[in-house]
Amino acid sequence: MPGIMSGHTLMRSSGSFRYRLILKTFRIEGPLGVPPLGTIRSPIVVIFVGILALKASPAQECPLPARSLTERLQAVAGAGMVSSHSFQYMEELSDKIGGRVTGSTEAAAAIDWGLGKMRSIGLQNVHAEPWQLWRGWSRGPAEASLIFPTYRKLEVDSMGWVGSTAPGGVDADVLQIDIDNPLDKLLTDSPTWAGKVLLIHRGAERSPQNASNEYGKFLVSAHEAHAIAVIGGQGGAKSAGVKLTHTGILGFTSYFDIPVVSMAAEDQEQIERLLRMGSRVRLHINVQNSISSGPVPSANVIGEIIGTEDPEQIFVVGGHLDSWDLGQGATDNGCGSATVLGAAEAILRSGMKPRRTIRFVLFTGEEQGLVGSREYVKRHQSEMPNHIGDIVLDEGQGAIGGFDLNGRTDLIDSFSHLVQSISGFGQFSIIADPVFGTDTGPFTLAGLPGILVTQDTTDYQISHHSAADTVDKVDAAVLIRNTTIEALVAFWIADQPERFAAPWPPDKTEQMLKDTHVEDRLKSLGMWPF
Ligand SMILES: [Zn+2]
Repeated sequence: MPGIMSGHTLMRSSGSFRYRLILKTFRIEGPLGVPPLGTIRSPIVVIFVGILALKASPAQECPLPARSLTERLQAVAGAGMVSSHSFQYMEELSDKIGGRVTGSTEAAAAIDWGLGKMRSIGLQNVHAEPWQLWRGWSRGPAEASLIFPTYRKLEVDSMGWVGSTAPGGVDADVLQIDIDNPLDKLLTDSPTWAGKVLLIHRGAERSPQNASNEYGKFLVSAHEAHAIAVIGGQGGAKSAGVKLTHTGILGFTSYFDIPVVSMAAEDQEQIERLLRMGSRVRLHINVQNSISSGPVPSANVIGEIIGTEDPEQIFVVGGHLDSWDLGQGATDNGCGSATVLGAAEAILRSGMKPRRTIRFVLFTGEEQGLVGSREYVKRHQSEMPNHIGDIVLDEGQGAIGGFDLNGRTDLIDSFSHLVQSISGFGQFSIIADPVFGTDTGPFTLAGLPGILVTQDTTDYQISHHSAADTVDKVDAAVLIRNTTIEALVAFWIADQPERFAAPWPPDKTEQMLKDTHVEDRLKSLGMWPF
């Protein structure tokens, strides 16, 4: 809390400084509900603050001595590390609201919660920006048992935005499908799929990204061929972790009218072994979900710190408020949401004001295909030339190890100065590989640096989208460090004397996406804007 320390120091010097800085302490800490450490307990300071607050008006204030960028970053880092509430935010969101699938009542509660937090932190222009998801979906029971050649209860959970079996479930034989084969080759066997449960086998060598495009087409064909259900996670992937399943979406803006389940790897491998032995394998499977007949409401949650010199220029600090529902959404993306709120709080508490506006956004609909961030870019189209970029934390609970500038190789040099200025937090890698797995994507398409923080994902691989996505997986010290780093990056970018980045013209972005071979994937997701 450097601002408070200055107040103490300067009380012993000239009257005007003393007056101004105490008032500043009062103003910064007063509305935020956090006791200013070391001052609230001192009756002298409290009296001073009381008297001087009555006398003071902003016009009487002397200008603050200019602080160097380093001093300004020190103030942000101090506020971030010393008095962060980001862990409490993550805990509250996860424990009190829990899993919050876009369009659900829990997601609506999370939107209200986000608005309340932004207001209590002291952000400006706090508001919700409503948008509609094309269909809502909710999870019902999902259960499966092996019934031949032996009986065993199996661990399954439904994927998102998929259909149901007949009520009460169905008994059916299992047929293994090698999804690495081209779809037209697979389809030659599709007459044999009727009445079967299709178990997906996917080789490790295939990237999930490429596999997911084909997988959607396969699911449509499986439904048309009257298959009973499909066992296979996102892109047909097998589950990871001890007796865990991983839910998730199987295509952007898609609903597959066939039950698709993720099965615990231990259970899936037993079935695979039995099939290898040549045994007939029969399951009972019951999956009951529901899909809405029309769109459901959602909203992005927005608050700002208005810039002092170029307020029309905007840097976005984003994370997604929505989550899946098997766990609590603590690591995906309670951590990201808490980082957004905690970074805002650190900058406000520091007393440092950035030259440009920092806009804090809790996106929703990320899990259904970056819907909230795409809606944001659409809604703010006229403002996009004034955007500088966005930063997003969406790799869970692990420590930040670097930054991905998503195609903006031209910014690596200037970003390395930033990384140098926060080297007290460690060494950070800088890459510029375009990825479209989170809310940086729509900013990248708009020609801006969508900055994804890269993290240690060892534990996240297990926790995300699973029943293990719970508060206990998050280390408060790591979350607070991550939050502070994000606050520093946002402040550094928004406070540069020269604007850090402007949007590339569309043809330049288009060429970059072609050169980096993501064109096909974006086209198949319906995200190619050129
Ligand atoms: Zn996420």
